[in-house]
Amino acid sequence: MTCDSAAEAALRTLDRRHVIHPWGELCPSAEASFMLAGEGAYVRDLDGTRLLDGVGGLWCVNIGYGRREMAEAIADQIMRLPFYSAFMDMATPPATELSAKLADAAPGDLSRVFLTTGGSTANDTAVRLLHFLFNRTGRRKKKHIITRAQAYHGSTFLTASLSGKFADRTDLDLLEGQVHHLSSVDPYRRPAGMTVAEFCDQRVAELENKILELGPDTVAGFIAEPVLASGGVIVPPSGYHARTLEICRRYGVKYISDEVVTGFGRLGHVFASEAVFGIEPDVITCAKGLTSGYVPLGAAIVSERLCREASGGESAIFSHGFTYSGHPVACAAALTNMAILEREDLYGHVRRLSPYLFQRLEELLGLPLVGDVRGLGLLAGVEFVADKASRRPLAPEIAIGKRIATACRRHGVMVRPLGSTVGISPPLTIGREEVDVLASALRSSILEVADELTRESVTIG
Ligand code: PLP
Repeated sequence: MTCDSAAEAALRTLDRRHVIHPWGELCPSAEASFMLAGEGAYVRDLDGTRLLDGVGGLWCVNIGYGRREMAEAIADQIMRLPFYSAFMDMATPPATELSAKLADAAPGDLSRVFLTTGGSTANDTAVRLLHFLFNRTGRRKKKHIITRAQAYHGSTFLTASLSGKFADRTDLDLLEGQVHHLSSVDPYRRPAGMTVAEFCDQRVAELENKILELGPDTVAGFIAEPVLASGGVIVPPSGYHARTLEICRRYGVKYISDEVVTGFGRLGHVFASEAVFGIEPDVITCAKGLTSGYVPLGAAIVSERLCREASGGESAIFSHGFTYSGHPVACAAALTNMAILEREDLYGHVRRLSPYLFQRLEELLGLPLVGDVRGLGLLAGVEFVADKASRRPLAPEIAIGKRIATACRRHGVMVRPLGSTVGISPPLTIGREEVDVLASALRSSILEVADELTRESVTIG
């Protein structure tokens, strides 16, 4: 479907006049880029151009676009019961069935599920639940939350405070005093002369030192994405996850694993915490791939032990929730989405295809500008630098990630600019052919941008 040019112009004008875009200009000076349709791993824009969606919408369209089965499940639930409150003792079948299914898929004793409207509200819920736990059990000083530079945990006041993408803080207020950011865990950016193992030791020690500095009796939790996604697709060093969990356990600090991006097949498993990193956190938060983005939904999956401890054998009312917590239509969509992921073994498919994706991306390391290729499963980042030997970054005003992403779009592929990196998280349904399309668009784009930069007298080496 395309619009005629008058309708197109009208849409663009309406958008500029009325829409406040997330992370966009409040009063936009440039026109928005409309997407109109999607099928499989491809989307079509307002101009009718077909693009391979290397972003997966926003790290979320795991089962791909245009699934009639999803439309039918959503429509069925709407006709049966579009909405009823899940508050207090109210329930709907899809919300209960989904909670049981998530509990089944989650590691260890993570068997109690709080359904939310997305990832931010899932993380917000997780932190409020920790406060609730410690307030109820007479440890009211346990309030501090430890997080990391380059983390992204959401956009509510609390979760924006947990996030560590410091450029996003410009002119915005955040919670002060209760949130503490550790240094970046990006091995590519480790100090010169340090091995990755030493870097890991140092970052693990930093967590322990921070807990000791604040006092273990004042620290409620540590929140961590297993792979930091929008911070630049950063995979912490091997062993980091298990060692940080061990430190949290030692000091009575609860561990929240933010699997909003890494869940539902992105790393080849329903959840990555245990299957990929060998950890059993106290809470797993998820969203995005839970419904493959067809409708909004999130969840905080909480350990049975934690809930029992907070209850203390009495009635414990957790006065927290959203009108759309456990929305039956979203839960029906999630159940169908999870059924598709299982039936088509998209988990196994990701594990099998991932080495080919990284083989093709690593070939780019021979090109100018390409400093690092990293990731896991079908989640990848390619980082660009001015000088490969010294890893010197390009000047921020060059906006290298954006330039590469713009060039890729000219070559028919969407990738996500993340500062000096581009992020790749395509629908999990792609095959080797789409990996080739992605890799060749990146190759052409990198060569073109490197040429442009040379013409602009930017020194690259
Ligand atoms: N956590 C992570 C790791 C994310 O990447 C995001 C969103 O990108 C969120 C939380 C917030 O999720 P939402 O945008 O659904 O509120």
